[in-house]
Formats: sequence, C-alpha cells, structure tokens
Amino acid sequence: MHQLNRRVSGVWFVTASALVLACGGGSTSPNTPTPTPPAPPPPVVTPVGPVGPFAVGSSYLDPRSWVQYTAGDAPIIVIAPHGGLLSPGELADRSCTECVTANDTNTQDLARVIADTFTVRTGRRPHLIVNLLHRRKFDANRDLTEATVNNTATLRPTWEWMHAAVDTAKADVTRRWQRGLVLDMHGHAHAIPRLELGYLLTGTQLRLDDAALAASNAFNTTSTARLLSTRLSGRTAAQIFRGPSSLGGLLEARGVRAVPSPAAPAPLVGEDYFNGGYNTLRHGSRASGSVDAIQIECHFTGVRDTPESRARFASALVDALLVLLREEYGWQP
Ligand SMILES: [Zn+2]
Repeated sequence: MHQLNRRVSGVWFVTASALVLACGGGSTSPNTPTPTPPAPPPPVVTPVGPVGPFAVGSSYLDPRSWVQYTAGDAPIIVIAPHGGLLSPGELADRSCTECVTANDTNTQDLARVIADTFTVRTGRRPHLIVNLLHRRKFDANRDLTEATVNNTATLRPTWEWMHAAVDTAKADVTRRWQRGLVLDMHGHAHAIPRLELGYLLTGTQLRLDDAALAASNAFNTTSTARLLSTRLSGRTAAQIFRGPSSLGGLLEARGVRAVPSPAAPAPLVGEDYFNGGYNTLRHGSRASGSVDAIQIECHFTGVRDTPESRARFASALVDALLVLLREEYGWQP
C-alpha cells in the first residue's frame, strides 16, 4: 500500500506540473526561470513472488489470482500444477507440437485433501501451491516457453510467481527443519492402475538390479539426491527407491499399488511410466539444496475419482509420509 501511495502521489505531481506549464506558457517572459522538472516517480516494482510475512494456513494469490500459495509449517510442500479450473477468455489456448492441454482430473482437490489430512493428523500444515488455471491456458510443470505458449507476455509473471512461491516454501522448510520434501501431484491414464513415483530415474535405469543401479551413479542425479546422501537408517540407495521403507513400499503396505516398490521394482519394458518433470527437476535436490522432490502420478479409480477415494488415498499417503519423515528425515510432529 505504501508503494501505491507513493506512485499515486508521483503521478499527481507530474500531472499538476504539466498543467502549470501549459497555463503559463503564453505569458512567460525570457527571464522567467525555467521550472525544475519534477523528479520522476519511483518505479513501481511488482514483486516476483508472494510477499511475507506469512501466516500459516493463510492463502496468497499472484497479482492475477491465477496461482495460490497457502503457507505451511511442515517439512512437506504439495504442488498441484495440472488441476486448475479457470479458463479466462483473455488467454489464448496453448498450442504447440509438444503441448499437452488435458487436465489431471481432480488433482487440485486431491492436493488440498492431502494437505488438510496431514494438518489434522500432525497439527502442522504442508505448504500448498495450486495452479488455478486450466492446462489449456498454462502448464505449471514446464519451462517458461512451453508453459506459457501463445501467452508468454501475460503469463510470465504468473509462472515466475509460482516458482517463487515454491522457493519461498522451500526456504521456510529449510529454516524450520533443515530438510523436507516436495510432492508434485499429477494424474495419469496409463493402462496399469498404480501410482508412478518419479525420482528422475528412467525405466531403463530402474530395470537394473540394485548393484548395477548403484554402480551406474544414477542416484546422484535423482530428485532425492539429498536424501540419499543423508539417509538415517543405513539402507542401501536402491532400497530408498523400492525397498519396504521407500514411499512405494510404505504405500504398497497400505493397499496402494506403486512403481517403484518391492512388488514392482521397475516398470517392465513397454509399460508406460512417468519419471518426473520440470518441477521435480527444478525443485528437488538433484543439483543442490536440502529439499527433495517426488512426482506422484496417480491413477484414477480408487485414488482421485470420488471424494471418498481421495480421502482414503490421502489418509494412506499421510500414513506413509509420516513413517518416511520419521525414518529418513528425522522428523516427527
Ligand atoms: Zn500432470
């Protein structure tokens, strides 16, 4: 508000000065000193991302109200990039060779239910970042060019705000807890009804046996590289991804099929598998940092199709997360 007042007063001052010059122009003698031009108003700096201080549980919108950040205080950050419902007419539809424009149905609500379930269980709220725009307008899991194709000038600030919101959440997690985990929530329509957990390991890499996978150095460039370097429980690297105590293993024990997991250590040749995307790449610990990321691609039936499914799945996921956080991150509510 302070900036706005200054801007308003600056504009008024310029306008008033211009009026004075115009009224006196015809009668000004050569000896009349030239009025000093007013200083230009200070530039209005639009914040790139959400501006604190933040209250846990309160929500903040980007200037166009297209992305929502809800502040949390848990070491979990939930992102819902493909569940937006808004289709403003001012935005052209995205169209490009690579562009996917279909939403991941019900994943916005699923993300909210997961965050709420975690909060009820622990008294600590996950950070939540929700893209409110439909994917035909904005893809919140792509680089700037593909995310905003046909609308880049309009959507660049929204794209920047969203990633700044994730960075804000990561900074809070790091400050409070040192380490944490981003969950990038999606939905797939592949033939096998199971979660596809993405750590940036390809299907080909996952099909290696544990020893070969460890020898390949593939672990160092996963989105949970930090977890691997600091794991608390002495498990091998491969077990982190597909052992009984991996997220897939913990979910499997709670009745939710997943790959990778003990029952499905890797997708078989020919089976579809999403192994991570832009958000996992950018916001996990692949390159640096102490916040890991896992992309969770959800099948439809029994997970995100009905309110009952979403509640049941969220409960199982939070159960699994609490074990994972305790065993691998040393965190308890
Ligand atoms: Zn998706």
